Amino acid sequence: MKLDRYGYYLFLGYGDYHRPDKAGPDWTSAWNLKEWERRLDRLQKLGTNILYVFMMGKELPFPSQAFPEIVEKGHTNVENEFFQQVLDSANKRGIEVIAVFATTGHAGELVKHRPHLEIKPRPEGSEASTAHLRAFPKAEAERAIHHRAGTAQVGSGILCHHQKEAQKYPLTVITECLTRYKGFSGVVLHPPEFVSACFCKDCQAMYKKATGNDLMQASDDEARRFFMDSNLEFQKNVLEPKVDELLPGGKSFMFTIPWMFEGHFEEFERWIDKDTIIVDWDYDVAEERMAELQGRLKRYGKYGHEVWFMPSSGFAYGPDYTEQEAAVRKQVSLAEETGVNGVVYFMGPVWTRHLEPSSYFLHGAG
Ligand SMILES: [Zn+2]
Repeated sequence: MKLDRYGYYLFLGYGDYHRPDKAGPDWTSAWNLKEWERRLDRLQKLGTNILYVFMMGKELPFPSQAFPEIVEKGHTNVENEFFQQVLDSANKRGIEVIAVFATTGHAGELVKHRPHLEIKPRPEGSEASTAHLRAFPKAEAERAIHHRAGTAQVGSGILCHHQKEAQKYPLTVITECLTRYKGFSGVVLHPPEFVSACFCKDCQAMYKKATGNDLMQASDDEARRFFMDSNLEFQKNVLEPKVDELLPGGKSFMFTIPWMFEGHFEEFERWIDKDTIIVDWDYDVAEERMAELQGRLKRYGKYGHEVWFMPSSGFAYGPDYTEQEAAVRKQVSLAEETGVNGVVYFMGPVWTRHLEPSSYFLHGAG
């Protein structure tokens, strides 16, 4: 084992997943403190020393004062708040806890209450109105279209960060969480997983100012590049100073959005602080995809950032589990070879059946 940090990523609530018809006992939204402690014991036995916890989502899994209309009703931590004890309990087991915030994405419930904050896609009938899905990985595009209970959603509930009121949403939730719960060792800022860029009047004006050109005439890829670039500028100038103020000295992480970062990373890099750890996020274990992994990790490390890797620990698997569990272990050993310092397996809103089989800690490299 060369990895310095090894752990998992769990959601406190449903996150960006559609609420399943029947949430079984493995869904985190159903866990009480005792259940969290039982699961932390298992993670500790696997050598876990870091845990990401997603504190946002379509709904909020804590009793938010600022956004009571989108609090996850029936969530155990809403009914009888205990998350501070989970934090304490993890820290006592030698597991650092990192809060994950999805900034201006995944705000599915908020936009039901405040539709004016949602992005305005290109008007129907204009030249490229449907072309925006083509450049996306096939699975992502399909997930964006088919909303099923218990599955993730991509491109839904995206706020336009050029609206001041939209900026206040992540700023306020981050403030509430970091004030309410003590003991986080750091923060992950997760840029929005958008499908379409925004074409509202403000975005058009900002694009004109930045490039001299007309946003409505830009290609889909160029419009998305601008949307992500200006979103990262907002993240750096507005959200990061707030995190620094509330969690001084905390570790700083950022997830990549594969279909945006792989096309434009060198340009976006100027908005990412050197002490921010870039977490390459990829669940695809197809051979041709895995062949690109080491090159990509090296590319992200070229500017001096520490780079970590986040594979799936099983939630998104197809039917051939054994093969895929081995593939995930291979993915992790490839990442380790490139010198990443940390690997954090994605679990999401539901505990995986593949915890032990996919564990690098139990099986070692390859
Ligand atoms: Zn806009």
